[in-house]
Amino acid sequence: MSHFTITCRGCGKELKDVYCAFCEHCANSLLVTDYKDPFRDDCGSGIWKFNWLPVHKPTFEQPGTIVYRSQWLARHLGMENLYIAFNGYWPERGALLETCTFKEFEAAIVLQNAVENEVEGLIVASAGNTARAFAHLSVVADFPAIIVVPRMCLMEMWYLESSSRVPTLAVSDGDYSDSIDVARRISAISGLPFEGGVKNIAKRDGLGSTILEAVSKIGRLPDHYFQAVGSGTGGIGVWEMSERFIRDGRFGSKLPELHLAQNLPFVPMVHAWEKKSRELFKEDLRPELIGQISTRVLSTRYPAYSVRGGVFDAMQACGGAMYGVTNREVFESLELFSNLEGIDLVPASAVAVGALRQSVEKGIVKKDETVLLNITGGGELMLGREKKTYNVEPAFVSKKITDKEIEKLVCTLLKKN
Ligand SMILES: *Cc1c(COP(=O)(O)O)cnc(C)c1O
Ligand SMILES: [Zn+2]
Repeated sequence: MSHFTITCRGCGKELKDVYCAFCEHCANSLLVTDYKDPFRDDCGSGIWKFNWLPVHKPTFEQPGTIVYRSQWLARHLGMENLYIAFNGYWPERGALLETCTFKEFEAAIVLQNAVENEVEGLIVASAGNTARAFAHLSVVADFPAIIVVPRMCLMEMWYLESSSRVPTLAVSDGDYSDSIDVARRISAISGLPFEGGVKNIAKRDGLGSTILEAVSKIGRLPDHYFQAVGSGTGGIGVWEMSERFIRDGRFGSKLPELHLAQNLPFVPMVHAWEKKSRELFKEDLRPELIGQISTRVLSTRYPAYSVRGGVFDAMQACGGAMYGVTNREVFESLELFSNLEGIDLVPASAVAVGALRQSVEKGIVKKDETVLLNITGGGELMLGREKKTYNVEPAFVSKKITDKEIEKLVCTLLKKN
């Protein structure tokens, strides 16, 4: 007996005992997990202490989010109940994510869920933090993964020593969509599925675990939740978890307002939400806008915004606001946060800090309300002082690679692993 079932947001159908962490039921709508039992936080260690995860018998260790009540940033902003969900490396506080971002949770839950569904390996078509997280978890969970990245993203990619043996391919002659295309062909030929993106319930539940830790710590749902969004997966995951808390009944009866932020001038979701439009506007997706932002992890041109159960629906259900944060505000916020709280941030986290500062200035959040600020990544500098990190050394392939060549490549990559 499983402790969860899966429901389609489109037609409401409940799916039982099916392998569907990755599948699609109704086109253009997301599946969500329904957990039968009330919330528990005493089921294991690290992230596995929570029962609201789509896994049964975890086979490896995975540290979770650290939530603490801010003293210095809170005082600076004149707030009384500011909680920080820190996702990264900060051993002094017990934060032990060696890949330094909350992407580690999606990788951990997706891999454990895949193991339990007898999937034999995964293809990950991504870059940056997601690629690093999956490479790390592939080693920790001893589960085969092939990482495919566009060459232009290699610059900002680093691995832990152990991850350097995870097969990583860089598509040398194309952009992000070409690398996804190559990954798709590798998936078809190898028979290994894609990690699934936002459609994968395990991914959203993994990212939603930040609010599980927050409620466990605070004892109730926060009034407001702040996060920088790229694909929107993390924000959707938090909304879904909040709905579960409301059904549980012990932690409050009002969904937290969502305050989701992007980096100006690339802010497609901000503009669409300002107009209350379910569709993104084409002119907001121009690639030249992406060149001007300082947070590439927030630059996806295909966010889970319009899809049923996506960011638009989350904003409509929760209320709140979306924010555009300038590069200047990003750097000021980085500086401010690390000076006040004493830990370095990845730039994307500073986008959320910038949004919080804007909302305080505008009086959107009240001084005594309970606010959860999701620091999605941090402690890279701290980690760099303690551990060696490496530039990723991929095998380069062309987007023109033939099926025969892919077949050979997959064979050698998986054997070597
Ligand atoms: C991916 C990422 C985000 C955005 O998360 P989404 O789920 O894609 O919206 C924010 N911050 C960091 C550090 C990330 O790696
Ligand atoms: Zn359906």
